Amino acid sequence: MDKEQNYLGLAEATGSVKVHALHTVTDIAYDAIKALYFVNITKTDQDYNVISTLEVTTPKLIMAAGSIGTTKLLIAAKHQGGLPLLNEHLGTKWVNNGNGGTMRQSQSDNETDFFGGGGPASIKTYDFEDPNAPINIQLLPLKTGSSSSLFTIVLGVPSGEGYFDYDEDNVVNLHWPEDASKNVYDRFEEVLTHIEELGLGSFSDTNHAIGQAVTLHPLGGVPLGLATDEHCRLKGYEGLYAVDGSIIPGPTISNPSLLIAAMAERCMDSIVADIMQ
Ligand SMILES: Cc1cc2nc3c(=O)[nH]c(=O)nc-3n(C[C@H](O)[C@H](O)[C@H](O)COP(=O)(O)OP(=O)(O)OC[C@H]3O[C@@H](n4cnc5c(N)ncnc54)[C@H](O)[C@@H]3O)c2cc1C
Repeated sequence: MDKEQNYLGLAEATGSVKVHALHTVTDIAYDAIKALYFVNITKTDQDYNVISTLEVTTPKLIMAAGSIGTTKLLIAAKHQGGLPLLNEHLGTKWVNNGNGGTMRQSQSDNETDFFGGGGPASIKTYDFEDPNAPINIQLLPLKTGSSSSLFTIVLGVPSGEGYFDYDEDNVVNLHWPEDASKNVYDRFEEVLTHIEELGLGSFSDTNHAIGQAVTLHPLGGVPLGLATDEHCRLKGYEGLYAVDGSIIPGPTISNPSLLIAAMAERCMDSIVADIMQ
């Protein structure tokens, strides 16, 4: 992201953009009379000790704090009165992208039968045999000291979905039902068992509860076309946008970062046009 020829590097090279690290947005609000967004920020050191706080005002606000960061800020603003007109779809369509994982070890003491020649490459395989639970399995070799294993992760299409709410203690909560991605996990175990039967490695116990409670790919919360229009504009406000994983309204069955970047680029065409008006 911050390489010279990538988004942040190119943006900084225009001279119009300054990136402020270690600045955490704490809350946002819209003043309809001034037609300005007010953004409160806490500046910290690397241990998160507060150095100072500041307030920024802007006529256009583009949110890119990720599925959880953006959704959390918007839900808090909706309930605390800063952005009361955000609609009922805010906080919906959240998924863990069907993520889960386990470690795979060689079945023999002789590592060379499994990791001979330096170990396998990272690979990604798709299994569409069960149309109700298509999955994508990825193998990530890990070598620590003399031992090696394969971190094996799954992506899929969970049958359930999560949502955010705001409670009486002023806390934004994410609810992910216990068995929301059980269908993905069941299929994952079937495939792993088959591999084990073929003598191609044994697996750590796949713990459903833990497996379904983790994610590398949080998605949704500000679903495109529901909480926003088709161009990332938050419904209820002018000049407020979300351009991160929060707008993806469901699982992607693949790694999502390029899809998120593509969607953000697509929306930027409309956002630039809005700003130039
Ligand atoms: C270990 C791991 C491995 C992964 N591997 C892959 C992969 O191989 N391929 C792939 O496609 N995807 C991968 N992903 C997923 C990918 O990283 C995410 O889907 C993607 O980064 C999400 O992009 P985003 O812009 O929505 O949010 P993020 O990349 O999370 O960016 C949000 C930014 O906002 C900042 N932020 C949050 N809250 C605030 C706040 N209140 N104030 C100020 N700043 C804030 C965060 O610090 C962060 O910098 C991986 C994820 C993990 C965790």
